[in-house]
Amino acid sequence: MVLALLLIASADVAASRSVLDGGLRAAGRDAMLVQDPGAEVVISVEQLAEHVLLARVGDQPEIGQVILNNVVAIGASSGISVVDTGYFPQSAYRLRELLADALASESFEYVVNTHWHWDHHNGNQAFTDAAIIAHEGIVPALELFERDIDSFLAQRRERLSAWTQTLSSAAEGSPEALEARGWAFAHARFLQEVEAGYEVVYPDITFTDALTLRLRDLGEPLDVELLAMPSFHSDHDVLVVVPDEGVAALGDLFFPGEVPLISTDYVTDLSAFVRRMSEILAAYTSVDLFVPGHGRLMSRDEVVVMVRYLDEIVQAVEECRAADMDLTGAKRALSIENRFLFMHGLGDPATHEVNLETLWNGL
Ligand SMILES: [Zn+2]
Repeated sequence: MVLALLLIASADVAASRSVLDGGLRAAGRDAMLVQDPGAEVVISVEQLAEHVLLARVGDQPEIGQVILNNVVAIGASSGISVVDTGYFPQSAYRLRELLADALASESFEYVVNTHWHWDHHNGNQAFTDAAIIAHEGIVPALELFERDIDSFLAQRRERLSAWTQTLSSAAEGSPEALEARGWAFAHARFLQEVEAGYEVVYPDITFTDALTLRLRDLGEPLDVELLAMPSFHSDHDVLVVVPDEGVAALGDLFFPGEVPLISTDYVTDLSAFVRRMSEILAAYTSVDLFVPGHGRLMSRDEVVVMVRYLDEIVQAVEECRAADMDLTGAKRALSIENRFLFMHGLGDPATHEVNLETLWNGL
């Protein structure tokens, strides 16, 4: 059975580029001296829908789940498609094996990267037999990432030593110790895996607006919709919807239980993002399970609340401005308690204050 690729908008096939000749085996060039962090990256796999699996890469509550990446796999008789490949380049080979076992197939058809952040594409190298698909805009971001890889690795080493220090001074069993142990493990393990071989693997196929992957399962079509979003978490986020299975992969658009951060780095038109999210929720009413890039699964209601928050905060700031308030007055009027009670208890309230300042000062 052959997978047909339906191009809704412009899609072009770029040459597959696996750069960094020989991978970052060469990165040993400035001798990382990474100590063996011990434990493996734990990967758990569970079924979400008839054809959809969730792999949790870094499913390690004992270190506070700090490295947890959610990977979605869609199994059809024609092959396996994977959404995001996690942070750890070598553990991705084990991820691949686990998915192949769980779906009883060795054939990987597509890999979709939801955005350019390293914890969503570092595992691509384990899936180079599949067609790797991403938004066209992530290519320059990956090039930049690759060009600066040495400083990225140096930063990981610095963080490793800082967290190791924090761990040594934190009280045994305290939340600080848990967090420090998690991050120290994450950085040590990552550096170790990079030493064992890492290359930045670019998409084979890029698109700009939307793309439908028409998988085939025993003769039946099983569509996977790739939907480019107006900038929000990054400059090129892609939402992945499997309508027939009632599942969507959010990438990092939303984090479960947290007020969404309006990033000054990327967001230029928040209303456009809200409109697009609302359109997607209205168009795919079958979807009631949302898989964020990290953390627990989200319900449709939770996603609706996130979108409502973004919609209302834009309007509310405008109203305060129209009423000639100053920022202090607006912050008081628009606090979680006074105006956004439906967001009460979600994450760090400071994020909401940051959002108010961001919108007040203009995107
Ligand atoms: Zn991200």
